[in-house]
Amino acid sequence: MKLLIHACCAPCLVYPWEVLVEEGMEPEGFFYNPNIHPAEEHRRRMEALKEFARVTGAKIHYSGEFMQERWEGFSGPGEERCAMCYTLRMAKAAAYAKEKGFDAFTTSLLVSPYQKHDLIKALGDRFAREYGVAFYYRDFRPGFRQGQRKAKEMGLYRQKYCGCIISLGESGAVEGR
Ligand code: SF4
Repeated sequence: MKLLIHACCAPCLVYPWEVLVEEGMEPEGFFYNPNIHPAEEHRRRMEALKEFARVTGAKIHYSGEFMQERWEGFSGPGEERCAMCYTLRMAKAAAYAKEKGFDAFTTSLLVSPYQKHDLIKALGDRFAREYGVAFYYRDFRPGFRQGQRKAKEMGLYRQKYCGCIISLGESGAVEGR
């Protein structure tokens, strides 16, 4: 199966990538994360993915789109904000998969126990219907720790917050570090 896997970041891609390749699939990655703030952090996460590609030989497609202003109107609990954020990224992944002739698309967001898993799945199913390309759903979460350990061994940059300006503020991480 020719599978496009949207990569939210390099560490989260490690485990899904490994299992998919082991099972004989032919994944290609897709970096599209305009949620990441600030621009320096966006660049850093993209560079980490390039390092992952260099080490593993993975083929990755990159979009440098950066649109932080979409997050500026949100504050408080993240349900609505994260829904907007997933919607942007899942819709783009589906559209890109369709345009480039992939059989299906999925996302490394499905590995993280910190993400809203059921919402991501629902949006994957929705955009599969809307764009006419299959959504490959899989619960990768049991491999999250294993993937993070491997990412550490590989020396990949591992961020301390989800991505948007609000999650940066909530994490207490220092901007640009
Ligand atoms: S917390 Fe993460 S998923 Fe939610 S809006 Fe921010 S970057 Fe997106």
